[in-house]
Amino acid sequence: MNERFPVADRNQVRQALWRLIKLERSAVAGLLVLYLAAAVVGVAAPVLLGEIVDRVSAGDGGVDVLAGLIVASIAAQLVLVRYSRYVGHRFGERALARMREQFVDRILKLPLSKVERAGTGDLMTRNSLDVSTVGTMLRDAIPEIFISLVNAAIILAAVFYLHPLLGLCVFLMVPTVYAGTRWYLKRARDGYLAEGDANTELTETLAATADGARTLEIHRMESERVAAGAETIRHAYKTRRYTLFLRSILFPSLDGSYPLPIAGMLIVGGVLYFNDAISLGVIVAATMLSRQFVEPFDMVLLWVEKLQLGNASLARVEGVGLVEGNGKARDAEPDGDRLKASDVYYTYDGDRDVLHGVSLDVTPGERLAMVGPSGAGKSTLGRILAGIDAPRSGDIALGGVPVTKLPLERLRGLIMLVTQEHHVFRGTLRDNLALADESATDAKMLGALSVVNADWVNDLPEGLDTELGNDTLELDAAQAQQLALARVVLADPHTVILDEATSMLDPTVARHAESALAAALAGRTVIAIAHRLHTAHDAQRVAVIENGRLVELGSHGELTAAGGSYAALWHSWRGDSKN
Ligand code: ADP
Repeated sequence: MNERFPVADRNQVRQALWRLIKLERSAVAGLLVLYLAAAVVGVAAPVLLGEIVDRVSAGDGGVDVLAGLIVASIAAQLVLVRYSRYVGHRFGERALARMREQFVDRILKLPLSKVERAGTGDLMTRNSLDVSTVGTMLRDAIPEIFISLVNAAIILAAVFYLHPLLGLCVFLMVPTVYAGTRWYLKRARDGYLAEGDANTELTETLAATADGARTLEIHRMESERVAAGAETIRHAYKTRRYTLFLRSILFPSLDGSYPLPIAGMLIVGGVLYFNDAISLGVIVAATMLSRQFVEPFDMVLLWVEKLQLGNASLARVEGVGLVEGNGKARDAEPDGDRLKASDVYYTYDGDRDVLHGVSLDVTPGERLAMVGPSGAGKSTLGRILAGIDAPRSGDIALGGVPVTKLPLERLRGLIMLVTQEHHVFRGTLRDNLALADESATDAKMLGALSVVNADWVNDLPEGLDTELGNDTLELDAAQAQQLALARVVLADPHTVILDEATSMLDPTVARHAESALAAALAGRTVIAIAHRLHTAHDAQRVAVIENGRLVELGSHGELTAAGGSYAALWHSWRGDSKN
């Protein structure tokens, strides 16, 4: 099971929201003024209508003017509402854009090991579904709730102004609305969080099935995956049904409450009217206003529902910022570039150690090869040396500073891990190389490519401007590897850890590329994890890892002379490669 990213708590969500709103202070102020104006104008129509009723029953004239005023007030309200919506949505869009930028920024700053452990499904769901739900909240929910609250408050004030007793009638709906909403809100956050989790699970399962489709076919595991898919769908369905159930209680309880104030007003108003305490027009105006009141009030509750959804999503989006090591001050400065592992233990599952007390002092500028049987822990040690994973105990120091204390961006500029997995980004060859060094000139880029024997570049019709990753040019594994190595040359870190980084190349090309790379990285520390032993032969020192332990360390000559594990490996590899 993957470790999920954390989820922000209520307080953190509130702070995040507040930060977004604070950045748009003037928009929010403008919004407030526009909405107030729209709400005040909106109250005019019912009040004027009441006036008309009174004048007509008293037999007075001047009704035409009043009717004209009603039309004017409605038109004014339309214009004001339109502009306030416009301002509100602009605010929402800007806040959303800001949040998206921050989210991408945070993802890029995440420690790699956390991303790997959490799985991409979680990040993908948060980045797509959750961000767009928060978008709805910022763009629609918050402005709408705001409009509606202002509107409801003004209408309520108007009813009270007409007659306090009629005003009190509005509160008849409070008990049932309160009970229904309270019941709902108590369950909604957890319900929607569970729904979000189930969505993540669904994305992950379906993506994994799609990714591994070919393997599944070969191993005839289709039915297993179908079952796994069905199970996650069932779970997602269950969580959605639950939130639907919550809504199915909330909405009827609201709709059933709204007629209560009007009924109350008609009764109270009737009694007052027959006691000559109130005019017919006032009752008409008050009941109309009370009907008008329902609309914004309902809106508030409806959007509160969306706000719950948005809140749960924002908690998940903000949670990414809470990952340990993200954005934390890590500001130590290494003294020199000596990389040193001391008594390192590491476990993946918390149960079984895969490294047992490895100590290794890498001399700056040396070429060190790491060899050993598959599963011995070489890649794990490589990742730990690169600061991607932290050891369970013991430490890795760069220039005397533990690598986990170095700012991630700084660390990645100093130590580079190149593995077999390379991503070729959509874009031109130049874009792909510029990732390593934005300011590199064309000559420098072409130079880096030639260092790693990427001769195919010369055959490209558009050279560095050739689009990669689509129909124009699909790089094969070897070419992608060369691209990755060229990036290393451009990035020029002081320590490079190559984890079978040339395994996809033809052996002769690989050896050639390695020595050219070594020449290009002269003076840099190169730690190469290799299964081809010529890499070890060419290195200054060889570290032999077996069962998570460093068992031999010395030059090729020393180790072959010693007649230990390395000597045996070398002889068998030589024997094999001669055949
Ligand atoms: P090598 O690079 O020497 O082949 P690795 O460092 O890849 O060895 O693996 C060392 C041990 O750690 C192996 O037993 C392997 O099964 C285990 N291991 C490697 N990666 C993971 C992982 N992501 N999760 C759990 N165990 C792992």
